Amino acid sequence: MEPELVVNEIFGPTIQGEGRSMGRRCAFLRLGGCNLSCTWCDTPYTWDWTGAGGSGVKYDPRKELHQRPVREVAEELLAFGVELIVISGGEPLSQQSRLVPLVELLTARGLEIEIETNGTHAADPALAASGVRFNVSPKLAHSGDPVKRRIVPDALRSFAVTEGTTFKFVCRNADDLDEVAGLVEEFGLGSVWIMPMGQTGAEVSRHMAELADAVIARGWGLTTRLHTLLWGDKRGV
Ligand code: SF4
Repeated sequence: MEPELVVNEIFGPTIQGEGRSMGRRCAFLRLGGCNLSCTWCDTPYTWDWTGAGGSGVKYDPRKELHQRPVREVAEELLAFGVELIVISGGEPLSQQSRLVPLVELLTARGLEIEIETNGTHAADPALAASGVRFNVSPKLAHSGDPVKRRIVPDALRSFAVTEGTTFKFVCRNADDLDEVAGLVEEFGLGSVWIMPMGQTGAEVSRHMAELADAVIARGWGLTTRLHTLLWGDKRGV
């Protein structure tokens, strides 16, 4: 039987709004479900069916989740005519065994793939060997998730030695950077990016201004949230 993915939305062409590929033209595959429940999550519609998240909204899984065959998803993504596919969520690695055949179909057509993950699932060796790049975003204490759920040492150590992985931390101010530094040191994380928290352009810009000098001083990269600056919290762009 053909494998299926639990999809929230597919959209493009758009731009990658964050991290090392910020500004690149791409298409997005957003998968449903997440094992965390961050209070400031900007995609609660992928997982929050009880209103437990910061928005307090109960989303309807019958409207938000769609069981889609892998081949059909690949065809829809290929039709955008972009060079880069971003697989996001929710937490896409909750479905990683079914992502392997999708990645094979897309890389066979020459596409680059980035997977955004919260870093709590170690990557399947087949996925790690497939040429995808992981953008790992471990969550800090301000997410409201218990530390045992948001920090999985074995998973972080395995990403730290996976070629092409970057680590991206959502921060509000310079105090959050001490927590990042502790994780960087404990787990040997390289290629560190700091991203300002915010769901409006004004919030993102304010946190960027508070963070910039301290991030540069620590030797890390700083990324904005370009999609938020352009379109606010509008979905599917
Ligand atoms: S890990 Fe990501 S998708 Fe999951 S709750 Fe946190 S911010 Fe939202």
